[in-house]
Amino acid sequence: MATVAIDMNTSAFDLWVYLSKNLSGTLDTHGVCGGIAQHISDYTNCKSMTALNEINGNSYFDAWLCSPNEKTSQHRWTRDKDLDVIHNLLEEYEIKIIPKEEIEPKDNELYNMVEETLLVIPLQWPQHGNMIIPQGILAVADAHDTLLADLDMTNDLAIMLTSLIERAVLSFQRDRQAIEFAITSDISQRLNSTLHLQDIFAQISDNIKRMLDVESLSLGLINQNNGRIEFIPQLMGTIFLEIPRIELEPGTGIAGWVAEHRQPAIINDVYNDPRFSQNSDKTSGFHTRSMICVPLQQQDSVIGVMQAINKRNGEFGNHDKALLEAISGPLSAAIVNANLHENVVSEKRRIEAMFQSMSEGLLTIGPDHSVTQANDSLMTLLALRENQVIGNKVTDVMRLKDQDILLFMAEVSTYRPSDSLADYPQLLSNVQVGNVYKPVMISGAPVREDDGALNEIVLVISDLTDIREVERMRDNFFHTIIHELRTPLATILLYARMLLKGNLNDEEKTQRFLQNIETESDRLQAMVRQMLQHAKLESSEFKRSELPVDLNGVFDEILPAMRDRAQEKGVSVIDDIQENLPEILGDRETIYMIIKNLIDNAVKYTLEGKIEVKAEAKRTKVHIEIADDGIGIPKQAMPQLFGRFFRAQTAVEKGIAGTGLGLNMVKEGVEKHGGKIKAKSVEGEGTTFYVELPIPDM
Ligand code: ADP
Repeated sequence: MATVAIDMNTSAFDLWVYLSKNLSGTLDTHGVCGGIAQHISDYTNCKSMTALNEINGNSYFDAWLCSPNEKTSQHRWTRDKDLDVIHNLLEEYEIKIIPKEEIEPKDNELYNMVEETLLVIPLQWPQHGNMIIPQGILAVADAHDTLLADLDMTNDLAIMLTSLIERAVLSFQRDRQAIEFAITSDISQRLNSTLHLQDIFAQISDNIKRMLDVESLSLGLINQNNGRIEFIPQLMGTIFLEIPRIELEPGTGIAGWVAEHRQPAIINDVYNDPRFSQNSDKTSGFHTRSMICVPLQQQDSVIGVMQAINKRNGEFGNHDKALLEAISGPLSAAIVNANLHENVVSEKRRIEAMFQSMSEGLLTIGPDHSVTQANDSLMTLLALRENQVIGNKVTDVMRLKDQDILLFMAEVSTYRPSDSLADYPQLLSNVQVGNVYKPVMISGAPVREDDGALNEIVLVISDLTDIREVERMRDNFFHTIIHELRTPLATILLYARMLLKGNLNDEEKTQRFLQNIETESDRLQAMVRQMLQHAKLESSEFKRSELPVDLNGVFDEILPAMRDRAQEKGVSVIDDIQENLPEILGDRETIYMIIKNLIDNAVKYTLEGKIEVKAEAKRTKVHIEIADDGIGIPKQAMPQLFGRFFRAQTAVEKGIAGTGLGLNMVKEGVEKHGGKIKAKSVEGEGTTFYVELPIPDM
């Protein structure tokens, strides 16, 4: 600050006027205290000191020391010795002049400043409400020759200086309160506007640390299941992200004590507090010195604690505690809200996931009969887009054949699970999809409010098309089986009866009859074998063996007999099998079944022309191709070709016997060997099957 030379002859009154004029506009305590020391020194030509206790605390004195016409030096006295000397001088709170040797303890700057005597002028303030007003002191060394030695005059001066400092302190506190108010209300506002725990922590941490001037802030939440306090690493600094999460057993540590007693704790030396648990410092390497811990409460329960750790300057006081407590209310509410929100959101996600993952179609209908929600399966089932479903009347979405969906919903809306043991209402129906109707099963359930009022109706729609198709195929299969079994059985029975009736003497006839019986029995046996094979392949007990299969051997075994059978029909079989095909890994019986079935079908469904069988190895696969000039397969039948019990119209019309199981087994067998199969066919022209089987890495 600017020093103004003062005429040594001016009166004490002049000093009074001068100080009051120059310092009354200064509203910061440091400026006022430093200014006083400087002016007094300049005026009296003595060394002087002003000292002021920590505002809102008791752990240090700020002291301004000045020699005449020199710059003021400012010190923060925190050592016991420095503090004691001031406390001793202030003991009786009166203006006095004491000899140097009475200054206790010695060996400090104040003592060193004095040659003979020290004028002590306590600066004392009245209490202002809850505010803690600091103690202050003005000390002038060797002032005996100055007008300050006139103690009455000095008393007036002390009152004036007191009021100057008091104004500066009050203004500081007012500013500080305004800042604190601004920060607390900002925190409350932020807390009100966020529903995510992580955001809450991010929002408050820096502000609170700044306001309380602390190194760290930590937040521990009580795990409702085991009562342990779990600290949130994100809030405690980066070191805590890398170490295991810090947790305290119920009732342990300062946090545990605070949560249990529902009382805040101010501890300025935690290592001397028996409640302090050192584990956290040990694992993190962080050194905790001081702490304020306040409980976070919501209604009647404690949900956690908040700790402000290591005040940077001085000690924690009641004021810091009050600030932290002021934030703890809105913070607790925000945490509870965030948890509730999180629960609701995760429950919603869970339900949505279930809703979407269901293979059944699902829709909810509001009181005005419009669809409020629907899952993807429903849109696929009805072949509608979302905007054709959501918000539309259920009667437009679910058009039933000969039935009224509203009647069914009326039944659902009166259903009460409690008064009936029956299942939820169900309706077997057909729903319009484009120009056709699909068979469906509709199940319905009412969703009610707590008071029982109907809120929504949920409908679950199961597509029965596949089930109906399976049922149809099963019926077809039984018809075929019965038909197929009946024919040979009837033939066998016929010949057996004829033999029994005494034709046994005619050897030639007997021979022919027995021959027929044998052929038909073979057919029966083949059919039964195929059915058993199919059942085995289907069952989980089928385990593919991993043995090398010699494909050339398999072809050699199958082809001659097939060629003979084809020749009987006037059909030729041309083969082009690469010599020394690489072995594949698998089950010989299944590979045999695959190739046999395909060539067998080619022979069976070819009435004239030729059949070509090719096999060659290309890079990682063996390619097998079986082409015929047979009756072919209608284009529309191709998608079902490998389905179980499927028989194309072309085969049935021509009266060619079969079970519709062969190709299904072939496909399954190929896939169990990691291979692929496909077919191309032109009705009336012929069919080609392509099989790829992987060659194992050697
Ligand atoms: P099956 O021959 O015992 O009826 P498959 O499962 O082997 O049973 O064949 C299913 C159906 O596919 C046959 O009924 C037939 O309609 C058709 N099909 C199979 N292979 C051929 C082929 N090579 N030429 C024409 N149609 C075929």
